[in-house]
Amino acid sequence: MIRPTVARVDLQAIESNLRAIAAFLLGPRSPVAPPPPPGGDGEASPEPAPHSTRAAAGPRIIGVVKANAYGHGAREVGLALERAGAAVLACADIEEGIALRDAGVRAPILVFGALGISDLDGLFTHTLTPTISTPSAAAALQQAAARHATVLRCHLKIDTGMNRLGFRHDNLARTIPEVASSRNLAIDAVYTHFATADDPDGDMFAVQRERFERACAEVSALGIRPASRHAANSAALLRDERVWYDFVRPGLLLYGIVPPPLASTLRLRPALSLHSRIVHVKGMRPGEGTGYGLKTVVDRPATIAVVPAGYADGLDRRLAGAGAMLVRGRRAPIVGSVCMDMTTIDVTGMDVYPGDEVVIVGEQDGASIGMREMSAAIGTIPYELLCRVGTRIERLYD
Ligand SMILES: *Cc1c(COP(=O)(O)O)cnc(C)c1O
Repeated sequence: MIRPTVARVDLQAIESNLRAIAAFLLGPRSPVAPPPPPGGDGEASPEPAPHSTRAAAGPRIIGVVKANAYGHGAREVGLALERAGAAVLACADIEEGIALRDAGVRAPILVFGALGISDLDGLFTHTLTPTISTPSAAAALQQAAARHATVLRCHLKIDTGMNRLGFRHDNLARTIPEVASSRNLAIDAVYTHFATADDPDGDMFAVQRERFERACAEVSALGIRPASRHAANSAALLRDERVWYDFVRPGLLLYGIVPPPLASTLRLRPALSLHSRIVHVKGMRPGEGTGYGLKTVVDRPATIAVVPAGYADGLDRRLAGAGAMLVRGRRAPIVGSVCMDMTTIDVTGMDVYPGDEVVIVGEQDGASIGMREMSAAIGTIPYELLCRVGTRIERLYD
């Protein structure tokens, strides 16, 4: 028996989104349908392709599967992306990388996050590629790699203005030489991350791009000559082909969502939909309220349906009075209060019965409610809502 509230994850949508992005990366000038990028058919190559191959195929894709693949399930999504030709997968920390390896992922796995000093063994036992973000991380990795008598492949991160992780772009002459002289570290790539890629009006995006290119030149002058550069998250890759470099790092786009407020003509399919079933239908008399605080008081006879999904499942309390769910192809407003395990919707005038399907996010009979709409209704971003789809909700993979 599974609970009535489930998340359906369409892995083929994710694979097709990856291919759509790969086709887009071949550029508008390409007249022919794109071949799958190198590394397809599950034949993941641990080595970066030679430069000529990259140029012919467009930049390669680092599929971002951190935070349980944005709530979609890292194991299943990781394998699907590998099948579809992602060159590399990226996750937040070593534990996530180990989970991907345990699932059978063979592609290179880049760990984005800052590393603790003490828990580095997983990098070696599970062949993960860490990000070096600070001089002290470089020193700790060098020591660990020497202890393991191996050369550790790493990516080096430059902070070009976001002021989060990475070596400051304006201090490289002081920090890079030690990394360059670390005999047990092989720097495969240099990368940065944009703070404002989703803000079409600001100028920081261009500033960061210029700083990154200068930093790459400086790193190279200081003795590190990585084979690749990468910078673009979903928004950046949509915006500016000058930041495609050798790899791009889409997350949200792979899951079929364009980062707001951007628009795109890419043919993407949202991969995750949320479904439930009505467990109870009841009438309310004029003057009565529903839910905690009785915040919704009706002035006419109303019909309320109870949906067995609440904030413990990831539904935000602010959806009460702001959001809707689909029943029988129509929007039923969320009323009363989103409770821990239940939500009430107003189905007045609709022919609704216990057992009827409710779509919380997704499509039903031609109507749809997307994560972008839902997040806009409550003032957050689709990323947050995807990650909050509760662990209690079973993921069903199609
Ligand atoms: C999460 C993340 C991405 C992907 O971001 P999207 O906006 O989902 O495309 C890319 N790079 C880094 C470093 C990230 O942390």
